[in-house]
Amino acid sequence: MSVRLGGNILVTGSNRGIGLELVKQLLDNTGQEDHIYACCREPEGAGAEVRLSTPPQVTIVQLDTSDEDSVTAAVQVVGERVTASGLNLLINNAAINKPASPALLSATSKADMMEVFETNVAGPFLLAKFHLLFCFCGQMSCRRSAIINMSTLVSSIEKCPQNFHIVQMYPYRTSKAALNMLTRCLAEDFRKHSILVTGVHPGWVITDMGGKEAPMTPQQSVLGMLSMMSSLSDKDSGKLVDWMGNQIPW
Ligand code: NDP
Repeated sequence: MSVRLGGNILVTGSNRGIGLELVKQLLDNTGQEDHIYACCREPEGAGAEVRLSTPPQVTIVQLDTSDEDSVTAAVQVVGERVTASGLNLLINNAAINKPASPALLSATSKADMMEVFETNVAGPFLLAKFHLLFCFCGQMSCRRSAIINMSTLVSSIEKCPQNFHIVQMYPYRTSKAALNMLTRCLAEDFRKHSILVTGVHPGWVITDMGGKEAPMTPQQSVLGMLSMMSSLSDKDSGKLVDWMGNQIPW
């Protein structure tokens, strides 16, 4: 990495997939003075690999992004720990894709739509609203104060793929397009506090969501993303970029 990431970092959905790999690689690149808040919906759940051999720089926090009370409680726990210095980096990684694809429009319910929006959009919105981030005046960076919203190439209206199964991912794709607008609004709103806000597409990655046919491992994706994130600056706030830093049109 050209600029080391560090300080107080919060990652949502850190018990598996890309979120878990983010915590692992951030740990390899942070020092004793840094701290990672690894948030997961069920810290005691069977899949919560993140809780195994937790080093002192990691605090596991229960956080269900679809549940306002859970977000409020997590913000309180983290807020008491980071006190006046605030969070330096918030990575909104947790997300769901429902119903499991391939799914037809006819098989997609309003309940699917609402659940996906609550998790993928309302959660990141609330975490931004509670405003745990470090406020300052100066050059923006992920080291100082930033929100990274994990988005996707398939959120792009301009790049809308023709593939039938992707076209029919109604809740997921519309939620990520809404997350992109949240990114854009927050970037303008938080410019006064020098908080960088950027949407990131991690690539197509082998995880429960990405499937086994994906061309990239979580290790490769996260290596690229952390390197790219360490070089983000003012000009990247309010944009959507991929794991290599290439800009994606809205
Ligand atoms: P996974 O499905 O493997 O993991 C999703 C994570 O989100 C899990 O930790 C899950 O926790 C968590 N999560 C889901 N719902 C909630 C909730 N309500 N509250 C808290 N945590 C929740 O996904 P990936 O790791 O593949 O995806 C990570 C991010 O990358 C997502 O934002 C996704 O949209 C994005 N992305 C992924 C791509 C890929 O190819 N994999 C491609 C493009 C974007 P739990 O175990 O409790 O369900």
